[in-house]
Amino acid sequence: MTSQVLSASSQMPEHCRPMSGSDTFRFACHSGVACFNECCRQLDLALTPYDVLRLKSRLKLDSGVFLGRYVIVEWEEGMRFPHCYLNTADDGRSSCVFVSGQGCGVYDDRPSACRAYPAGRGASRRVDGAVAEQYVLMREPHCLGFAAGPAQTVPEYFQAQGLADYNRYNDQLLQLLHHPQVRAGFRPNRAQADQYILALYNLDLFRREVMTGRIKMKQPLSPMEFRTLSAGDDRALLLLAVRWLMQEYFNECWTSAGYRSIDLAA
Ligand code: SF4
Ligand code: SF4
Repeated sequence: MTSQVLSASSQMPEHCRPMSGSDTFRFACHSGVACFNECCRQLDLALTPYDVLRLKSRLKLDSGVFLGRYVIVEWEEGMRFPHCYLNTADDGRSSCVFVSGQGCGVYDDRPSACRAYPAGRGASRRVDGAVAEQYVLMREPHCLGFAAGPAQTVPEYFQAQGLADYNRYNDQLLQLLHHPQVRAGFRPNRAQADQYILALYNLDLFRREVMTGRIKMKQPLSPMEFRTLSAGDDRALLLLAVRWLMQEYFNECWTSAGYRSIDLAA
């Protein structure tokens, strides 16, 4: 399985076709299909910061331990920002480290791309701040799930797969990734790329750095924000991480109230 969370600029991968929000497809995946777990082999699975938040919380691991054990970070020529991928097992099939004969070992907290499969979603931030979505459907030869199941649209499928929270938090990053300066050619330097991984993926270390004052917000945290973070609210911390990177990259200083946040209450 290749990553199905597509950036808006991604080229259309093999076996993919675009889908509108009203196009339907039939699909059913269950432990009785002959291809059970085949999509968890030959893995090339990109992880979003919210994916890592969910997985490290489920496994009760410090984010630094999780990164060291399960994540490969790539930042190569031609990549704007670093990418994080889930490590694979050394079994000759590049299997997911979480798959077993019984299926996914982290099912309730599986990453965005696993939830979306066999569909994919691209999101981009318009100039008015709204998020535009594009969908694709992948019919990879190994996947036999298209033989049965109810007709459904991609948004209906995503709803059933519990993607709403994932999309909300993943979309928060668009403020950074689709910032006008990024569109104009900004690429982080080495130190800024390290900040990106620290803030977005190594949340527990980021929290410690903020709480001890080694990382400073130009707009100091309110007592309420400080209490929220010290109580261990990783979702609030992830939003703060985006704010901090906007400050460090673009010298923009927003309070949580003034932050042009996509509506998380929706
Ligand atoms: S996290 Fe779960 S669903 Fe995703 S590839 Fe691994 S085993 Fe499969
Ligand atoms: S039907 Fe498709 S998604 Fe389900 S187990 Fe088989 S390959 Fe994976």
